[in-house]
Amino acid sequence: MPSHLLEQARAAKGFMPEDEGALLHRIALERLPHGPALEVGTYCGKSAIYLGAAAQAVTTVDGSPATVFTVDHHRGSEENQAGWEHHDTSLVDAEFAKMDTLGVFRKTIARAGLEEHVVAVVGASVTVARHWRTPLSLLFIDGGHGEQPARDDFDSWPRWVQSGGYLAIHDVFPEPADGGRPPYELIYLPALASGQFTEVAAVGSLRVLERTSGDAGDPVA
Ligand code: SAH
Ligand code: MG
Repeated sequence: MPSHLLEQARAAKGFMPEDEGALLHRIALERLPHGPALEVGTYCGKSAIYLGAAAQAVTTVDGSPATVFTVDHHRGSEENQAGWEHHDTSLVDAEFAKMDTLGVFRKTIARAGLEEHVVAVVGASVTVARHWRTPLSLLFIDGGHGEQPARDDFDSWPRWVQSGGYLAIHDVFPEPADGGRPPYELIYLPALASGQFTEVAAVGSLRVLERTSGDAGDPVA
């Protein structure tokens, strides 16, 4: 990854350790020539820099620029709200007394020079997914980590991964002592249990599964 982009990623607010970001970047380089990528959980754009840097570096099979969509309502997850561990008071919109990460995200991506490659989709994950029909070369799930959001993301998004495409999941903790259960129990394990995904890489809490059976649009259950 170019050093100026790595510096931008390091400087960005967010929750993506550098070694896991490097894996995200590598799998995006591999997959983006074959179709767009989609991230669930933009926050301030830290992981989007690793993905967007890959989009900037590749040419797609049809010669068009590579694109990364990133979905977030920009109101924060449960653990980002006031009183919780990951709350950042600088991200509160005073008028509504609600989190607002959209403006910071936009600056992050503009500073990195990645606006042509990273497209923000602002809304609830399930709402966007209800109307989504585009096959994905790479799906990265890093949205709400409560039980309902994790279930919803699993029901909504993995079906859009192309045959041979990747499903990457963040904050997967097989050991309860290391972190919350929902991404592991309600996304990672069900994806493997579907028989349609096979693990191909792991760093830290990031797991990468390849769609080894089924194709975009086929339900995953
Ligand atoms: N990928 C980011 C971290 C994401 S944090 C990084 O690299 O730093 C999780 C994000 O998911 C939060 O910004 C939160 O607003 C978003 N989120 C949680 N539940 C959501 C939902 N149901 N729909 C859309 N976004 C959601
Ligand atoms: Mg995460």
